[in-house]
Amino acid sequence: MIHQLHPIAALATAPGIGAIAVIRVSGEGAIALTDKAFRGKKLAGQPSHTAHFGTFRHADRGDGPDTIIDEVLVTVFKSPRSFTKEDVVEISCHGSEYIVRQILTRLTDLGAQLAKPGEFTQRAFLNGQFDLVQAEAVADVIAADSAASHRAALSQLRGGFSKRLKDLRQQLIDFVALVELELDFGEEDVEFAKRDQLRRLMTNIQGVIRPLIESFAAGNVIKNGVPTVIIGKPNAGKSTLLNALLNEEKAIVSEIPGTTRDVIEDELFIDGVRFRLIDTAGLRDTTDTIEALGVARTRQQIEKAALVVYLFDGQSTTSDELQAMVAELDASGKPYLLVGNKVDLMPAPAPPPGRAYSMTRYDDLTEADGVYVPSPIIWISAKDAHIDELKSALSARARTDAAMQTGSAVVTNARHLQHLTATDEALSRAVAAVDAGTSADWIAMDLRIALRELGELTGEVTTDDLLESIFSRFCIGK
Ligand code: GDP
Repeated sequence: MIHQLHPIAALATAPGIGAIAVIRVSGEGAIALTDKAFRGKKLAGQPSHTAHFGTFRHADRGDGPDTIIDEVLVTVFKSPRSFTKEDVVEISCHGSEYIVRQILTRLTDLGAQLAKPGEFTQRAFLNGQFDLVQAEAVADVIAADSAASHRAALSQLRGGFSKRLKDLRQQLIDFVALVELELDFGEEDVEFAKRDQLRRLMTNIQGVIRPLIESFAAGNVIKNGVPTVIIGKPNAGKSTLLNALLNEEKAIVSEIPGTTRDVIEDELFIDGVRFRLIDTAGLRDTTDTIEALGVARTRQQIEKAALVVYLFDGQSTTSDELQAMVAELDASGKPYLLVGNKVDLMPAPAPPPGRAYSMTRYDDLTEADGVYVPSPIIWISAKDAHIDELKSALSARARTDAAMQTGSAVVTNARHLQHLTATDEALSRAVAAVDAGTSADWIAMDLRIALRELGELTGEVTTDDLLESIFSRFCIGK
């Protein structure tokens, strides 16, 4: 059932100066209300999904030139065929802050209220346009600033995993009803809910939600970027590399209100994947090069990162040093790239040295040559910005994670993770209870928890606090 609430209005496009701005009005009487300020065709009589040119006007200023606020194009969407499922009018005007303010003022004078952040999406949700996971994805699609995060948000918007979970939850509801019926029979030993079927359903659900829980780490990486650290001895060329990377791929830091981050780290995008270069402050500090790279500090840096770039000077690094570093990196369990720098200084191919001393760029060296040869090494020249191979390796590394591939569902939202985890735990307890032949009331308790958690995930069970906290994170006009 569609509920049309009081009309609300807000700027739907980004604030500031632009070619056009769009003001959206939604709610009961939105079309009639706009008609009062619009001169052109009468909007109320127009079919849905049609656009009409005309002027938007102040009240009571006669017919003089200053009565017109702007020439506008008004698009009419009739309930229920609109984003909110209410009557919606979108007014495209010239992108001036003054005009937008005047139009909004006129609309509020006519009885519209200024929309709160996320209020349009909240109405769409309340009218069943989509579930909560999809509603949150609307916010993510807007905030997406890399191809990968856009892909993840869009797949959630299209229904992603929530449709599947809703189906399973419905089946579980049927079982809970049967188990509860058993409770009504008290002392009598009845079993309406077939335990083996119930158990199968529960493990089925767990089979769906566990990969989602596991995808969170990858999903977070998509949304927030891959925390990447460049480590290496002083003079290896770390700051030169950092500059080379950032010069080519420097991220544009968004100034849109609400998207500014507390700490701005160096970021770069490679093939649509965002990398957050952490701990770069020290690299900029030239006095830092004197400081020997302590083992403790290296470990700390590795700890913070999801991906480690170990940069070494290909000319002066001994095989033993490299071996020690590889052991350290292996022990950390973190994915890493071995990057040999200053390839421009390295001698033209010469016969393998046959003993452990400075590296050569021979990729066909073997352990038999008496040299420790980890493979593969990516050779670059940071100074000459010969870093393409490293860039491809970085993006390939981030993409190897299966969950990051297009198509597979990825959880990016901490709220979803929390409900999924709680569901999984409740189901595990219920499965154990079924296996132990525990009485129906115990099983019913955990099933109810699982139902509630799944319902809160998709929004079938909501509390006002939850809606408030979700939708207040949207920007105004959404
Ligand atoms: P960091 O201490 O690891 O940050 O190293 P720097 O980036 O400060 O580089 C140390 C020195 O190596 C500087 O003089 C750089 O110009 C030089 N350097 C860095 N990369 C290269 C390179 O690819 N080739 C050559 N020839 N010199 C480089």
